[in-house]
Amino acid sequence: MSKSAGRMHFINTRLPLREDNQLYELKAEDGKWVCIRQQNGFLDAADAGLTLPMAPALAGTDLKKLEEAECIDLQGGIMLPGLVDCHMHLDKAFSLGQVSNISGTLQEAIQNYSQAVPDFSMEQLAGRMLAAARMALSYGTTTIRSHLDFPVHLGREVAFRTIEAALEVREKLSGRMNIQYSLMVPFRGDQAAVDEAVEEALCMGIDVLGGAPHLAADPEGEISRIFRLAERYGVPVDLHADESDDPEKRTVLSIAEQTIRYGYQGLVTADHLCSLSAMDEKDGQFVITKMEEARLNAVTLPAVNLYLQGREDRGLVRRGTTRIRELLAAGIPLAAASDNIQDPFHPFGRADLTQIAQITSYAAHMGGKEDLMQLLRMITDIPAGIVGCESYGIQEGNACDFVVTDAADVTQLLSGTSMSRWVYSNGGWQSALYAARAYAMDNQ
Ligand SMILES: [Zn+2]
Repeated sequence: MSKSAGRMHFINTRLPLREDNQLYELKAEDGKWVCIRQQNGFLDAADAGLTLPMAPALAGTDLKKLEEAECIDLQGGIMLPGLVDCHMHLDKAFSLGQVSNISGTLQEAIQNYSQAVPDFSMEQLAGRMLAAARMALSYGTTTIRSHLDFPVHLGREVAFRTIEAALEVREKLSGRMNIQYSLMVPFRGDQAAVDEAVEEALCMGIDVLGGAPHLAADPEGEISRIFRLAERYGVPVDLHADESDDPEKRTVLSIAEQTIRYGYQGLVTADHLCSLSAMDEKDGQFVITKMEEARLNAVTLPAVNLYLQGREDRGLVRRGTTRIRELLAAGIPLAAASDNIQDPFHPFGRADLTQIAQITSYAAHMGGKEDLMQLLRMITDIPAGIVGCESYGIQEGNACDFVVTDAADVTQLLSGTSMSRWVYSNGGWQSALYAARAYAMDNQ
């Protein structure tokens, strides 16, 4: 007898974001959590009032068994809400085979990708994006914000090909994951034509305006323009900011200023902020204070910045990541995200946020008990707030959207000793595969 759809029952579950190390019994109905109860010690099937057998511990459990199980015994394993990767580039993922980067610099990556993009067909773009999103899902990510290139200067058809592929992928995955798109507003080409194309992309369903104004000849002008457009269309702003080793790069100050001018506090995100680490203490603190005043969100992309930055240093090579601990200490919402996956910007990566959390811990010397909790929040609650997820988290009344693993605790999860993930979102199990297999899935 199969149980009714949308009903879930877990026992012996730890919820690490509650920071209490207690065991919980959880029940969901019609895709929502209806009961989350702290247990008094371990439960067995009889304690839980069950006559049907429970699924055993997760290791080796296939999807069918999970679907049919009356109750799932996590045996002390942990459950997290679906992870949130708030800065990806799905359109570029897996393009390394077509686009090389011999010097390994950000400049060559941008140049080579831009040269190659007119040759990508919509099918190629959509296929790569789907593969990357599915890979993320299989590792427990159920919400993504992806930036999208929008090279209007290479021709409207080229620019809109990426948008159309992206929207097709979102449609294909709807009901399985939530995807937001942020447009990389180009600073080249005829401004009126670009503005018109931006408006069209927003009408088609793009959610956020972004870009990389620190690379423009007139960063301040670009930043004002993006804010003007964002205000006109009522969308949030998410900008690549100061992805550079040069301590003089401080476009984040203009971003903070415009945020206040437009009353956009809480709606603006600054990503990378590598130059913040290159500044001296006094200047770094000044920038962080300005970010605080404007209530900016921030995102660190440690895998990519460790790879791309510091290329001209000899001897003591800079890490390239931002001032992670200082931003957190200042109370700035700072998420950690994947950025690029196997493309000219970053030859590695697997869209696995627990790996990103681990890399963040190496980059920022975070390994204590409180640090691990902070890292966990940087891939869950904090990015959920940044992208505006409503009712996020494992709470009664919220959507039953979670990832379970066979890790016994957060240390095991972040040390990568537990590779298996089981992901549930929008009323169904999404993957009982070992995550590495996801990329091989067909493009159905
Ligand atoms: Zn990026």
